[in-house]
Amino acid sequence: MKKLEGKVAVVTGASKGIGAAIARHLGAEGASVVVNYAASKDGADKVVKSIQEAGGKAVAVQADVSKQSDIEKLFAATKKEFGRLDVLVNNAGIYEFSPLEKITEAQLQKLFGLNVFGLILTTQEAVKYFGTEGGSIINISSVVSTMAPGTSSLYSATKGAVDTFTKSLAKELGPRNIRVNCINPGFVETEGTHATGMIAAGYPQQTLPATPLGRIGQPDDIAPAAVYFASSDSGWITGETLFITGGRR
Ligand code: NAP
Repeated sequence: MKKLEGKVAVVTGASKGIGAAIARHLGAEGASVVVNYAASKDGADKVVKSIQEAGGKAVAVQADVSKQSDIEKLFAATKKEFGRLDVLVNNAGIYEFSPLEKITEAQLQKLFGLNVFGLILTTQEAVKYFGTEGGSIINISSVVSTMAPGTSSLYSATKGAVDTFTKSLAKELGPRNIRVNCINPGFVETEGTHATGMIAAGYPQQTLPATPLGRIGQPDDIAPAAVYFASSDSGWITGETLFITGGRR
């Protein structure tokens, strides 16, 4: 029997990168997966197709998870399609790096709007849909929440908020058997890290001397941990932060 047979999972920002890999891995373990995206319908449709071709169940749902009305729509669509909710992966997030004097109010609104406000509002809505048996919430944070490199103050602050939110909420929701954990990746090659120019700028090479395992990550290095946190294998684990970084801290 697959680990997530009969479970329903929503993965935010699953049209690309880490979210897409998580959606595929959850689907391969038997979960019915809602592949959320904001703009990349083609990417989301490809992820859905690959899950279906592997024998799984998935549907793509457009919703900007920094907006309350879209978040409500996302979970209503999940209920309509699959009838229940067991797992939420809060993966959608954006990263931008600027020295303090270059941080703008618009950038603050954008990064906190999605990475923090959106994540909290999405969680609040999801919890309404978990059944009496509880559920699992998996927040995708980052190694920068604790490493906090220079020119990453804004992005690091958003992920620090995610870590703290995770710990507090785990205590609050534990009695309802809703577990809340964080995955904190190190540098991972994704559409996003290509699009932001980080790969082209040689960022991976800069991180290698401090990476004991000697390579940057791939989305498939991260996704199995989401299956673990979603499944009963982690049934007595909540409020934890798992760093997946090749050993870089
Ligand atoms: P990515 O390749 O840029 O993909 C981002 C995903 O989020 C896309 O599916 C995108 O969908 C979606 N998205 C963006 N804004 C959204 C919104 N408002 N509503 C719904 N979906 C939205 O990102 P990634 O590199 O895989 O990163 C994923 C997560 O991991 C982020 O939270 C990031 O902070 C974290 N992380 C990444 C790394 C890394 O090195 N890559 C390291 C540590 C942590 P559309 O294309 O449709 O907009």
